[in-house]
Amino acid sequence: MTDRKDELAANLAKVERRIADACAAAGRGHEEVTLIVVTKTYPATDVRILSELGVRHVAENRDQDAAPKAAACADLPLTWHFVGQLQTNKVRSVAGYADFVQSVDRSKLVTALSKEAVRAGRELGCLIQVALDAGESARGERGGVAPAGIEELAALVAEAPGLRLGGLMTVAPLTGEYAGREQAAFGRLMDLSTDLRRSHPAATMVSAGMSADLEQAVAAGATHVRVGSAVLGVRPRLG
Ligand SMILES: *Cc1c(COP(=O)(O)O)cnc(C)c1O
Repeated sequence: MTDRKDELAANLAKVERRIADACAAAGRGHEEVTLIVVTKTYPATDVRILSELGVRHVAENRDQDAAPKAAACADLPLTWHFVGQLQTNKVRSVAGYADFVQSVDRSKLVTALSKEAVRAGRELGCLIQVALDAGESARGERGGVAPAGIEELAALVAEAPGLRLGGLMTVAPLTGEYAGREQAAFGRLMDLSTDLRRSHPAATMVSAGMSADLEQAVAAGATHVRVGSAVLGVRPRLG
């Protein structure tokens, strides 16, 4: 193995161990939690190594970086998640490679994603990004819709051609009542997911938890954790 492959294999093993321990502590099965490796700022060669090491889900947050990377890795059996704030002028590109868009937070985006998914002949899984630091009807600083806006957006996604409602996603807030209270924040997301599943039973995905707080997310009931730096290393620049 190359040095990089050794390094990524060791990091992956550590992260899988953390997930396994968190599942055991919560009385959950390890298979209930899917690891998504966030490869933003890292090259396609790393994505290829991760695929060789058995990773099946990767995530990116900027279309400019993600589009060429996904093209370079088109031969690999990977599911691509888009997790960044998304401008409508990037939707056509994203709809060409993403399997899931986890950052759906406004109706205009739903309309654009639907149109481009149909055009590309693809079905896009959509997660509603929830901002737990937003005011009741506002949007979050880093994207996301306030809890009060989930139902309306979910109904739009569920009815939109080319889209499938997957569930909910959040990022632990840095401000507001949940700042520094990751487990409470993720618990709130679980409650919102329970509400959502009353009208959309198939929308079972709960995407929460990153390198620093994946244990809290697993404890709260997350089905998907998004882990970047704990697998790939600390990013050289903000992304
Ligand atoms: C970068 C990013 C992650 C991963 O963060 P790490 O702290 O590197 O694990 C998860 N989710 C989103 C939305 C991100 O942008």
